[in-house]
Amino acid sequence: MGEWGLLSDPWEPRRGLREGRFRLTSVELTVTNWCNLRCRHCAVGESLVARDPERLPLDLILRRLDEVETLTTLSLTGGELSGSAEVLRSWITPLLQYAKRRGLQTQVNTNLTFDLGRYEEIAPWVDVFHITWNYRDEGHFHRTVWGHGREGASPAASRKLFRRIIENARALAAQGRFVSAETMVNLETAEHLGAMNRFLAEIGCRRHEVHPMYPVDWAADLPVLPLAAFRQAVVRFLQERDPDLWVLFGTFPFLPCSPLPEDQALLRAIAAAPNVSVRNCPDGKNRVNVDLFTGAIRVTDFGGMPPLGDVRTDRLEDAFRRWQQHPRFQPLNCHCPEVGCTGPNLLVAEMYHADVDFRRQRAVLQAGT
Ligand code: SF4
Repeated sequence: MGEWGLLSDPWEPRRGLREGRFRLTSVELTVTNWCNLRCRHCAVGESLVARDPERLPLDLILRRLDEVETLTTLSLTGGELSGSAEVLRSWITPLLQYAKRRGLQTQVNTNLTFDLGRYEEIAPWVDVFHITWNYRDEGHFHRTVWGHGREGASPAASRKLFRRIIENARALAAQGRFVSAETMVNLETAEHLGAMNRFLAEIGCRRHEVHPMYPVDWAADLPVLPLAAFRQAVVRFLQERDPDLWVLFGTFPFLPCSPLPEDQALLRAIAAAPNVSVRNCPDGKNRVNVDLFTGAIRVTDFGGMPPLGDVRTDRLEDAFRRWQQHPRFQPLNCHCPEVGCTGPNLLVAEMYHADVDFRRQRAVLQAGT
């Protein structure tokens, strides 16, 4: 099958590999736990608060980032980071400016529901505006984003937010900004991925990220899409999408070592499709998450993962190495360079491949490769 996905993606963990060892090239900072939405499937829902407590000193965070000489990308996440003009000025902007001074690629995760000016203010230092797009229409948006609270929110208020996201995405795209929209595949979206993709292309998004739903936190009680239905959804999506919009499959549950012919056929179809790539999961492979409130250093910002260290006392690289030694990581500690695969994401492996020790697996090579 050859190379699995594109290498032009700065967040791809393979870029950090040196002599078979992963290096820490990517840091994600949780800069707020506040959000104006209450999405049913939110993977950090339990962490959301009505008001953020005080953050650790910015100097400390910058010093810890300074120590990571191999760093190439910085991502800022929440909660919703554009909700406070003060946070944008005092935290988001200095962090992004620091990143740009170091020549890092930057990403902000935002729901784009606030005034365009807030995004324009930070845009000069942002490489990727990463948004979520799990909505089929206004009614579905209303049901989804208040699925875990704020029962009183009116359809009219939802309509305003829904339209603002679209206007903002369109406007940023028209200004030449890279807007990447992520859709998770679950029972609500599986049959609608193609239509969602074409809409994202129409409003000017440059990339459509497609991931499984993570069954954690508020999504823990939602039904997991069986692999057969997931596979079928991807096959249909490949036929119905706009072929000019870059599709990036992330934390993809179909792996090149699968013995199933239908999985191999799917991977071949993906490899043959124009503008489609698969990103290996960065969590713990080349990235750690730092919570700016508690100082916890984790393998991901999602619920249920124990901290690997504390940014006040630990170097980020030491915490990263701790994960590489961690018993939960060992079954995923695999690498098949012949297809460019660096193993599954922890959550996806536990959801779909619970008893597989990937160290014993090997990519199935197709005849003629
Ligand atoms: S063994 Fe690991 S690296 Fe190799 S194909 Fe399977 S998941 Fe990918």
